[in-house]
Amino acid sequence: MRTSSFSSFLLKKDSSLPMLSDFAKILEMVNTSSFYSDCKLCPNMCQVNRYEAKGRCRTGSLPVVAWSGLHKGEEPPISGENGSGMIFFSGCPLHCAFCQNIQISGGDSSLLGLEVSEDELSDMMIALEEMGAHSLNLVTGTHFIPSIVNAIEKSRKKGMGLKVVWNSSGYESVEALSLIDEYIDLYLLDCKSLDRDVSARFAGLGKYADNIIPVMDFIKQRKPRTDLDNLSGTVLRHLLFPGEIKSTRSVLEYFSKHYKDNFVLSMMVQFVPPRENPGFEKVSEEEYDEIISYFDEFGIEDGFIQELGDDIPWIPDFRRDNPFPLSFATPSPYFLSLKKERL
Ligand code: SF4
Repeated sequence: MRTSSFSSFLLKKDSSLPMLSDFAKILEMVNTSSFYSDCKLCPNMCQVNRYEAKGRCRTGSLPVVAWSGLHKGEEPPISGENGSGMIFFSGCPLHCAFCQNIQISGGDSSLLGLEVSEDELSDMMIALEEMGAHSLNLVTGTHFIPSIVNAIEKSRKKGMGLKVVWNSSGYESVEALSLIDEYIDLYLLDCKSLDRDVSARFAGLGKYADNIIPVMDFIKQRKPRTDLDNLSGTVLRHLLFPGEIKSTRSVLEYFSKHYKDNFVLSMMVQFVPPRENPGFEKVSEEEYDEIISYFDEFGIEDGFIQELGDDIPWIPDFRRDNPFPLSFATPSPYFLSLKKERL
């Protein structure tokens, strides 16, 4: 996830609600299938037994949490007054070249975080609600979907009422997403690129570009309307990669043709080269102006855009209790107590 300040240019209305019978079917499936023993939870389809080995996401069968707490850097309707209640999962099926969370993604073989049980994960959700979180924000949880479904279910039984935001790279399998879709109120989904070469260079896998359209189509079918006042639907995030304005143009054109009436666009421009990989330029003012001209060209009138030239150090340091700038984040006391206990 990239954290920063956003300007909005308009919001939409409408909502969709899950059916109770669907929850029962999903729970039965999650608890009787072999999702971790023959893992095909993401498009990598490693088919490893995660009780004994690790696939590209670098994680076993227990959820690993890198940080939990309130964070105010998301789009305003998601952060609300108090901040969004974040749970950052460790490990990642993707490993982008520009990843700002490399300490926790496993991209460089380090993997900071605490292994937690489903009960502890559900208590973490409840603790965020008790802190006054505006929403529950699950960051990069694809590889732990079965455990997350069980944890949400447990927390709901204990009275947790937060709206659930699924904060993801978009590198998902539709089959795994269909397990958790009923529990998600709002997708906060990346569309990094539709171009294989750009995806390979920046996201580490060319097949990201092949996979993202079926994912967006699935979500559009399941949640055809976005109502940010009610935290439902989809915010589609796209980050401009330096020197790759053509890729952004094709994403915006595709968005305009296929999702403009369903999703809200969040255009991100604060590309921060990671410390470990500084060989990227920052986005220029000329590129920023060009994006604005695309909004006109493609009739995109709703959504958010980041401001250019923010000097706040946005690369989090997950070795600290609070990895983010102090004014933006407050750690969960429950998470810190688990950390103290384990480390
Ligand atoms: S979730 Fe992990 S182990 Fe499973 S298919 Fe994806 S990368 Fe491989």
